[in-house]
Amino acid sequence: ARKFFVGGNFKMNGTKESIKAIIKGLNEAQLDPNVEVVIAPPALYLHLAQSELKKPGVEVSAQNVFDKPNGAFTGEISVAQLKDSGINWTILGHSERRTLFGETDEVVASKTKSAIDGGLSVIWCCGESLQERESGNTVAVVERQLAALAAKLSGNDWSKIVIAYEPIWAIGTGKVATVQQAQEVHEAIRKWLRANVSDAVADQTRILYGGSVNGKNCKDLAKEKDIDGFLVGGASLKPEFIDIINSNL
Ligand code: 13P
Repeated sequence: ARKFFVGGNFKMNGTKESIKAIIKGLNEAQLDPNVEVVIAPPALYLHLAQSELKKPGVEVSAQNVFDKPNGAFTGEISVAQLKDSGINWTILGHSERRTLFGETDEVVASKTKSAIDGGLSVIWCCGESLQERESGNTVAVVERQLAALAAKLSGNDWSKIVIAYEPIWAIGTGKVATVQQAQEVHEAIRKWLRANVSDAVADQTRILYGGSVNGKNCKDLAKEKDIDGFLVGGASLKPEFIDIINSNL
């Protein structure tokens, strides 16, 4: 069985004080022991988060990483630097990176491969825009993103990947995908993995839903057979993040 997984993507939000308060909340909460939790604060606060976090089963993740080992890449952080800082996870391919910072399918795939080769686990994001959905291309877009990833990975690499399906139109809009919309794409992703990678990878890879998940809509989504958790933005900064972690209780 796939262990339920909840990620908190803080994006470019928070201060020392607010991040300490969020982590205090997690440290003191009763969390479902059957859930793996990863929080991703801005890079500046990774160390702080790491040192404040006392909760078993909760880990810290970066939101992005670069794929060159070192050198003249102003503003970037390397995989080895994350590892050196005790960070074992990164998000990659978030739609905000793809659209605002021009990361192509190939760039995301190449960064994902470098991250895994350097010892990180990756929350790899995919998902369609509103226009792509309305023109009936949702599954085709996600399959194109997956194909670029699969071209770079070898068999064992998939055990280091958690997939996050995040329809762009649902991110930060309050417009959550319906249970059916989400389940349909999750099922298509798993089917693609079965056909193009392996049965084992299709059966074992967690597929998270992200986009306006909150403490109320999480329970119904969590019941779907191909929804193995969530990647949470806005609500991960609030006390209801605990309710989302405990969706199955
Ligand atoms: P919201 O939960 O704020 O819609 O953001 C989702 C997201 O982009 C998580 O990576």
